[in-house]
Amino acid sequence: MPETLVIRGGRVVDQTGTRDADVLVESDRIVEVGANLTGDRELDAGGCVVAPGLVDLHVHLREPGMEEAETIETGARAAARGGFTALVAMPNTTPPQDDPAVVAAVLAAGARSCCDVRVAGAITRGRAGTDLAPMGELHALGVRIFTDDGACVDSAGVMRAALDYAASLPGAVIAQHAEDTTLAGAGHMHEGDWSSRLGIPGRPGAAEDTIVARDCILAALTGSRVHFLHLSTAGAIELVRAAKARGLPVTAEAAPHHFTLTDAACASFDPVFKVNPPLRTDADVAAVKAGLADGTIDAIATDHAPHPTEAKERPFEEAPPGMLGLETALALALGELVAPGVMSLRDALARLSWAPAAIAGLADHGGPVAPGSAANLCVFDPTQRWVVDADQLASRARNTPYAGRELCGRIRHTILRGCAVVVDGEARA
Ligand SMILES: [Zn+2]
Repeated sequence: MPETLVIRGGRVVDQTGTRDADVLVESDRIVEVGANLTGDRELDAGGCVVAPGLVDLHVHLREPGMEEAETIETGARAAARGGFTALVAMPNTTPPQDDPAVVAAVLAAGARSCCDVRVAGAITRGRAGTDLAPMGELHALGVRIFTDDGACVDSAGVMRAALDYAASLPGAVIAQHAEDTTLAGAGHMHEGDWSSRLGIPGRPGAAEDTIVARDCILAALTGSRVHFLHLSTAGAIELVRAAKARGLPVTAEAAPHHFTLTDAACASFDPVFKVNPPLRTDADVAAVKAGLADGTIDAIATDHAPHPTEAKERPFEEAPPGMLGLETALALALGELVAPGVMSLRDALARLSWAPAAIAGLADHGGPVAPGSAANLCVFDPTQRWVVDADQLASRARNTPYAGRELCGRIRHTILRGCAVVVDGEARA
């Protein structure tokens, strides 16, 4: 008989509803959900929510090529501590994920980590935006999301060719980093009042809006799925809302920093607040929240982007863009969206778990918490207060914009394929 594990005394929340129940796991599956269950081992979930493991569509693991910032192992550990049981690793590594051998190596290392690591393949060779990558070969390795993230596919012709190619690959989706390169140019923050005041060159919101508008048109032309990464502007969100109303096959994600922080933070000239797309205005933050609330934005994705401390200590205009996100995403969603009543806890978990699982085609993630489902779960205390300490994060990097901030809600246990990879907040592997 395989060993059994019971998660005792929690409040189960998934797409089917909310109920107080124990969860019994045997091997890598949930076998029973109900009252007074017993198992060989027990995890206490008293006062906690038991939910399907979170799924992050947008993570930069930095391996290969920038292991001084993060590795597959440390990034996966940060994910597990954040409640994530699956993540999609972005392809902008060195070398990039445009080659089956490179993708296979990341998948192999991911299989030894404490998170289910999937890989997004590049759309174009070298992410250069001109020649298509061997998407069919990458698809055969299990790649379902294709993106040149970090770079926008600027050419409408190349984007159309990628969408046509993806139509022949079951479950494939083309994900766009929507920032017109010629408009975003050499900007280092949002173009607006604050950039003028600070004298920092800006990236206009129109750089995002124009690409989203164009790619909605291309989704209509090709009938292929388009996923918009890290939406940050009111204009782009309104375009996606209209596209969905027309029945176009588009989905979207937003990052926690885009519903939490504004460009005013750049007044500190601290590069920890430098990110692409940039932190925007109060009106954009309100639009991101409204888009998440009404489902225009399907998923919360972290865009976890570790950088070595030296790189983020350069002057604002020389520092690389990006910020950590895996270990703070859930608490920010609880604090910024659920606590103020922007959305229910169940809707927030939809954006963090089952909606992104569906976009990435991850049948073993996103619940429901029911007999027969894969035992990929997170258990969190929604009332636990904690202060973000960059030195205490599992990530190898320290570039969190939330250092010193008090958050509410913390992961207690994370269960991956039936194994407790995080117990009482501490990673086991
Ligand atoms: Zn991006």
